[in-house]
Amino acid sequence: MIQVTCPFCNTTAQFSQGLWRCNPCCALGEADPKTKKLKGVMANQVTWSLRKRCYSFYEELVTRHKFNGLSKTQARKKISDDMNAVFATEEEGLFKLNRLDEDDIKIALQALERLNQETVPVCPYCSNQSNYISSKSIYRCDPCDAQVGVHKDTTIPLGTMANKELRAMRKKAHSYLDPLWRYKAASQNIAKMKARKAAYEWLAKKMEIHVDDCHVGQFDTEQCQQVIQHCAPYINLAMSKMKKV
Ligand SMILES: [Zn+2]
Ligand SMILES: [Zn+2]
Repeated sequence: MIQVTCPFCNTTAQFSQGLWRCNPCCALGEADPKTKKLKGVMANQVTWSLRKRCYSFYEELVTRHKFNGLSKTQARKKISDDMNAVFATEEEGLFKLNRLDEDDIKIALQALERLNQETVPVCPYCSNQSNYISSKSIYRCDPCDAQVGVHKDTTIPLGTMANKELRAMRKKAHSYLDPLWRYKAASQNIAKMKARKAAYEWLAKKMEIHVDDCHVGQFDTEQCQQVIQHCAPYINLAMSKMKKV
């Protein structure tokens, strides 16, 4: 049986819901839910909350790199290399945020925030970095008339940059896809989010891609055409019934 001792007070930690907890000092440590093996080191409450913020910056950064053409594995390697450079460490394997103490996690947080700011969308047409236009909440490449919007109240791109032609195609793809899940939600009385998720899972299967990569905002012209083809047989039915719902 695995036993974990709190590094702050030397009390034996308790395991519950995938975490090792120290009751006297509220320290926490992530564990493998099956083996209960502690991942990294236990963290006090300040370090824990900073660690959570680091993870969210980390995920954001993975997304940004993916939109710029890296695979998830390549993105993780890139972030790991950049973080190793910040800490001047040369450990084997990927850089681990859950090994850092309170001082180091603060440095990591700042570094991840900076890396996010620096990792702007690269224009797929001219390979130059785009500019963020805060008044319009878009990243833009003027010479190519390419742009992408951002998630509300963030500077996280919604997908990859698109020129006028691709933007029109994505809009058209949405006009075929969205009524299907809206109809499903209304007719089966299920939450919109759930219906939308089901539609994307269905579409991913049809397009033979991973559901994580199934977003109209990431599709090229050819993929948008595939969306239209797959949805076309159902669109009239959904639209006609939507009027009655
Ligand atoms: Zn403790
Ligand atoms: Zn460009």
